[in-house]
Amino acid sequence: MIVVMADKATETEIKRVLTKLENAGFQLHVSQGVERTIIGAIGDKTRLNDLSLEAMAGVEKVVPILQPYKLVSRAYMDNPTVVKVGDVEIGGDSIQIMAGPCAVESREQLLESAEIVRRAGATMLRGGAFKPRTSPYSFQGLEEEGLKLLAEAREKTGLRVVTEVMDTKTLDLVAEYADMLQIGARNMQNFFLLREVAKAGKPILLKRGPSNTIEEWLLAAEYILAEGNRDVVLCERGVRTFENYTRNTLDLTAVPVVKYLSHLPVIVDPSHAIGKWRFVEPMARAAVAAGADGLLIEVHPHPEEALCDGPQSLTPDNFFKLMQNLKAIAGVMNRQMGG
Ligand code: PEP
Ligand code: MN
Repeated sequence: MIVVMADKATETEIKRVLTKLENAGFQLHVSQGVERTIIGAIGDKTRLNDLSLEAMAGVEKVVPILQPYKLVSRAYMDNPTVVKVGDVEIGGDSIQIMAGPCAVESREQLLESAEIVRRAGATMLRGGAFKPRTSPYSFQGLEEEGLKLLAEAREKTGLRVVTEVMDTKTLDLVAEYADMLQIGARNMQNFFLLREVAKAGKPILLKRGPSNTIEEWLLAAEYILAEGNRDVVLCERGVRTFENYTRNTLDLTAVPVVKYLSHLPVIVDPSHAIGKWRFVEPMARAAVAAGADGLLIEVHPHPEEALCDGPQSLTPDNFFKLMQNLKAIAGVMNRQMGG
């Protein structure tokens, strides 16, 4: 990092900063200009916040040179991480599609959805048993009954199951049934939950918070890796902007940026980003063209009857069409569709 001293910083103030950095084990390079002194400090930047340098007299600003995260960074590991969910590899040559209804609603609805998405070429089944709904009066999910249905659908189709875990109270229960644990957008910065979920021994799908920067998202992933769980897949699902025609604004820039900064796989959820079924396919194609390792897509056998997110759910026919059209884009990217 670089510590820029104020132009009026006194000798004593500069000395105090140097001593503090030295005691914290930093190597120092001091450049004494005509106007001001600049200190280059090399060492463990994770200690930076603890030092409160910016609160010291005579310090104008502190400029970190490296990223605040470590384990998730390309600098730490240059080779892309491939996360395995059973035999499904996310982050390798194949594009993996996770699809299914927003929520598990009934046995018939889930088994029908699972069969549809499997036939169309998805490799994983999505579906919420615990739903983070904006209104407490909306359908909240079938809870354990929903998890049992997901497990039954896995038995019947061979699809791996990804489902959301909302709190530590239900973590063990969800982990008993799920192949991959989803941290929803609203919980991206629930650091206590992140730590606990990391310890469940399952791969994790970490959604980006609707108002979070890429750096905050990577730091959330860092919490999981810091607990010793390296199996994290990031999921861009749209962020809040001034635009309100769509549900959120799909930030596709996140795909190449995250791939540049991190070795972790990144997938895209166009359904929650856009919120309208007719725009899901073009953005799904764009996501694959941008380099996404997979997609999370909501599909419902009868979207008009869905208890949750019907307007953004694809009909079976539209999902089949999407899967066909994705093959061509995957080919251009020198990749193939998983499954
Ligand atoms: C979901 O995928 O079911 C969901 C609730 O999405 P998000 O957390 O991105 O809103
Ligand atoms: Mn949904």
